[in-house]
Amino acid sequence: MNDKGKDNKKDKIYYTIFSIVVLVSIVIIAFALFNKNNNSDDKEISYTELITKIDQNAVEKIEMTVGSTSIKVKLKNEEEEKNAIVPSTQAFVELIQEKVQEGNTIDLKQNPVNPLLTISDTIFSLLPTIMIVILFILIFKMQGLGDKGKVYDAESEKTNITFKDVAGLDEEKTELIEIVDFLKEPKKFQEMGAKIPRGILLYGKPGTGKTLIAKAIAGEAGVPFISMSGSEFIEMFAGLGASRVRKLFEKAKKISPCIVFIDEIDAIGSRRTGGSGAESENNQTLNQLLVEMDGFNTDETVIVLAATNRPEMLDKALLRPGRFDRQITIAAPDARGREEILKIHSKNKPLGDDISLKEIATDTAGFTGAELANVLNEAAIIATTREHKKIVMDDLEEAVKKVTVGLQKNSRVISDKDKKLTAYHEAGHAIVSKYLETQQDVKEVSIIPRGLAGGYTMYKTNEDKYYISKTEMEEKLVALLGGRAAEKIALDDISTGASNDIEVATQVAKDMVKKYGMSNRVGPINLETKEQYELQAFGNSVEDVIGVEVKELIDTAYQRAQELIKEHMDKLHAVAEKLLEKETITAEEFEKIFDN
Ligand code: ADP
Ligand code: ZN
Repeated sequence: MNDKGKDNKKDKIYYTIFSIVVLVSIVIIAFALFNKNNNSDDKEISYTELITKIDQNAVEKIEMTVGSTSIKVKLKNEEEEKNAIVPSTQAFVELIQEKVQEGNTIDLKQNPVNPLLTISDTIFSLLPTIMIVILFILIFKMQGLGDKGKVYDAESEKTNITFKDVAGLDEEKTELIEIVDFLKEPKKFQEMGAKIPRGILLYGKPGTGKTLIAKAIAGEAGVPFISMSGSEFIEMFAGLGASRVRKLFEKAKKISPCIVFIDEIDAIGSRRTGGSGAESENNQTLNQLLVEMDGFNTDETVIVLAATNRPEMLDKALLRPGRFDRQITIAAPDARGREEILKIHSKNKPLGDDISLKEIATDTAGFTGAELANVLNEAAIIATTREHKKIVMDDLEEAVKKVTVGLQKNSRVISDKDKKLTAYHEAGHAIVSKYLETQQDVKEVSIIPRGLAGGYTMYKTNEDKYYISKTEMEEKLVALLGGRAAEKIALDDISTGASNDIEVATQVAKDMVKKYGMSNRVGPINLETKEQYELQAFGNSVEDVIGVEVKELIDTAYQRAQELIKEHMDKLHAVAEKLLEKETITAEEFEKIFDN
């Protein structure tokens, strides 16, 4: 449970008490009003009227309690007793005694005080006041919570996540174990004169487990984990970002030893510019962070971990010694890592006997830990809706498709014309890939819409690759444009269906030129992260050259895709027809078409 949670809980309790108090107050007020109305009609008799009645000798009996000005009156000609208020009990008693002496027949009864009655009376009369006081206290309490706790406070929690919960990442874990030891026994390291890193930067795509591993360090060492996300600082009022950073570190020092985790640090730590407005606010926050990182005492055992997916954006000042001087890359898991992650996340799920997590791991190259966790969750949902007792392989495979291509859309009605277009488009991808040396084998082709796609072609993934060759990237472009090429040649028209392929192809071609230095005219220069003025250092026309190179790569690939389609027209028709007939064809059915 973290502090924020506690505050929320407190808030809830106050809110409940507040509601109850308001409700009770309303009931009491209503009751009082009701009672009053009831009395005032015929049960009440005014003091002057009472005196008149006494003078007329029309009063039969008067009952009063010592010390109370409220009395009960029974008139001779009436059944009901009435209430009356007298200004002074003593004067009234004397008056009656006088009248009795004059020959008046009034039965005066004086009851002793009922202590219980008086107490409850007093409480009852004080109740509204008590309620109002409680109300005020509650209102103040709630306001106090509002500005001190919730808004500025960083989350802090005790985690029970350990390295066991983190699959794969073995080298990273080994590297981080010394941080755990340090948090456990800082003295030992200090006596040895060892300097332990203050800050560690974790680089990696979202969902690769950066937060998880940071929590695991805290969990292993048994220290609190305080976290904050850089994105919280975006669009913040002036000065607030800096003050929040200050408070975060204040708290960290107070509860030290602990782990501070700053997610999406690029949101505050991006390169400082001399800008104004939002940018200078950003600078203030970043400056405060730098001040805090430098300002630790040696006895304060606070380790700051930060995560980002865009290391190139970070201000270099953050990476200086004493700040984030250690950097660890958290890569997407390899096949073995994926299998382990699947294992961890399927622990609490009933799996059928036909499940092979290894196979799923093979099929999910490039998936992050978060995506794999999501696959298992989706599989559980699918298995439930299909009313399976356990998750079976088919549920899991469907879940992988759902996560990659989107949910199957059974309800959408598709015209025959669209079906034909999709069939030729997907057949185009499949055929072209089939004849490209470097491209993976087709796993499944379908014209059933999923997510935004009208159809899809899935490829087998054989192995995890660390390097991709230029030839492979060129052929990838050809495969991507195979859909469009098939539409053009077989149907003599082109459609919007290829828009995503075109987007991906453009990005691949740009990366080839700007990131991987694969074009002859640009050469091995990284132009990707350069700003406008930096680009100019490579000549005024460098951007034109990039454009020409990208276009040439795409044109060549599109040309080659069309040639392949023309060459294998009969196969294209065969695959498209099979698709129109069966909607989804497997790898075996696909390969069979090429057998004869
Ligand atoms: P990041 O901080 O890198 O964006 P997270 O640490 O928040 O990613 O990961 C999101 C979720 O994905 C985790 O809570 C966990 O369920 C799952 N996950 C990611 N990586 C792993 C891993 N290596 N082992 C087990 N689960 C993982
Ligand atoms: Zn396509």
